[in-house]
Amino acid sequence: KPTSPGFAQGKAYIYEKSFGVRIPYHHITSEEISKECDNIDRAIEDSIAELDSIEKSAIAEHGTAQSQIFASHIALLMDPRFIEKVKSMIRKDRLNAVLAFDKEAKALMSAFNEVAEDEHIRAKAQDVKDVLHRVLRHLGHDVKQTLEELPRDCVVVAHELLPSDTLNLDRENVVAVVTEVGGATSHSAILARAMGIPLISQVKDACNEIPAKSDLLVDGTTGTVTVGAGQDIREKFTLKKNHFDNVNAMARKELREHCKTKNGVEITLKGNIGRAYEADDVLKYKLGGVGLLRTEHLFLKNDEPPSLNQQADAYGYLAGKLKGRPVTVRTFDFGGHKKPRFLEGEQQIIPRGLRFSLEHPNIFKKQLRAIFTVYEKYPNIEVMFPMVGGRDDLLEVRDIAKQIACELGLEKLPRLGAMIETPSALNELNEVMEMSDFISIGTNDLCQFVLNKDRGSIDEEAILNPGVIEKIKMAVEMAKEKSVPISVCGEAAGNQFLACILVGLGICELSMSPVRAPLVNYTIRQQNFKELMRISSEYLRA
Ligand code: PEP
Ligand code: MG
Repeated sequence: KPTSPGFAQGKAYIYEKSFGVRIPYHHITSEEISKECDNIDRAIEDSIAELDSIEKSAIAEHGTAQSQIFASHIALLMDPRFIEKVKSMIRKDRLNAVLAFDKEAKALMSAFNEVAEDEHIRAKAQDVKDVLHRVLRHLGHDVKQTLEELPRDCVVVAHELLPSDTLNLDRENVVAVVTEVGGATSHSAILARAMGIPLISQVKDACNEIPAKSDLLVDGTTGTVTVGAGQDIREKFTLKKNHFDNVNAMARKELREHCKTKNGVEITLKGNIGRAYEADDVLKYKLGGVGLLRTEHLFLKNDEPPSLNQQADAYGYLAGKLKGRPVTVRTFDFGGHKKPRFLEGEQQIIPRGLRFSLEHPNIFKKQLRAIFTVYEKYPNIEVMFPMVGGRDDLLEVRDIAKQIACELGLEKLPRLGAMIETPSALNELNEVMEMSDFISIGTNDLCQFVLNKDRGSIDEEAILNPGVIEKIKMAVEMAKEKSVPISVCGEAAGNQFLACILVGLGICELSMSPVRAPLVNYTIRQQNFKELMRISSEYLRA
């Protein structure tokens, strides 16, 4: 699985940090209980102090986004429920401190790993493992094999890398990473991308199959590792590497405010964000605004549903920061794997997106009220609804919106848009378009439903499936006929090749993770619109 793009050539360094650490097992006497509990307290205290200083240097070196990983490690160590469970094993089961901590951490890891369909949640198991290793070390069981000093031009091959492994990587000498497990949204992948290190994950049995010190070619754009390549392959690889490096360097250097095809067709690029600090990237990469604000991400950890003021502050901050550029605030897309903490006690399955909002009118109305309040001051705000089912949903939503606008004395409603990402919305496309001020296609969910696949297994290229690409074309044509603005905000929009196909299908607005925008911008500027139309229609016929 290509997880962090880039090309690298180097020698394999097999990182054999195994998780099978031998834990000394012995029952303790009642007199030893307090000593073992003290040991836990001390090891946790030392671990927190260590993490604190790692977090500070991470902020200085990589910014707040990356450092949050370590804040989450600290939060785990400060969780009284977690610590109490460990101590209860010491007191009740008479386990020694090392074993008690190991058991509780592994129980937590299995719970995370069981959520097999959610990569984000599985990635948390890695964090727990990282914390476990640290605490075990402070309890006198050092399991840390360092990656801080590596041989020159080395490709680290590991079963998996934990976030702190990645942050400690010897940047001078490591050129790429290959892991047996992990995925695109794991914390290590996020860090590797931020550091510009190519990373390929899910290379089965890599630690056994790849001989230590063998010559490796790593292509992080396609996810290919070549062992002991001959001259021919090396030459081709070098050409691809040079091309990749040059294009990327140029894309950033030649970043333009406007993205136009060679023959002058203007394409608007916007950012998908889910955190306030990501607005900085929208400005840094000269994007035309926020095409998708995933508001649910802002409040997932709330113990209570977010208040009106809390929401108005968050939306107002972003609208102000974006200085007049449009900010599309998507109403909560809770449900599925996005269950907020304030609904943790709820046993029933939470419906996704707009269905959730319509079934929780208090939460929904409060959110619309917060957005509309901000709109009075910042008219660059617009509203978008996720997982729209069809006409009936929109009728209900528009009534609620009008009622709130009337209560607030708003003269005019903000623009109200619908996401096209469910089969039922496709079935009622005509009505959905007529009832919306704009449309945004969510290719991630659309592919999942049209292809009947698990969301986690959907890759960006899934849009090229004839079933999906036809639906996108159909939506573009209908939008044109009805003069409704249409955009794409799924992951595919951030892939420079797929972005070109989308432009060829007639999409003139793309919203993506901001860091991907320079390459999309640069690539589109090299294309002739007519040629893209020709290529896209070939895909449609294929
Ligand atoms: C999508 O489904 O393509 C989309 C952009 O929404 P999300 O990824 O938040 O589900
Ligand atoms: Mg979606």
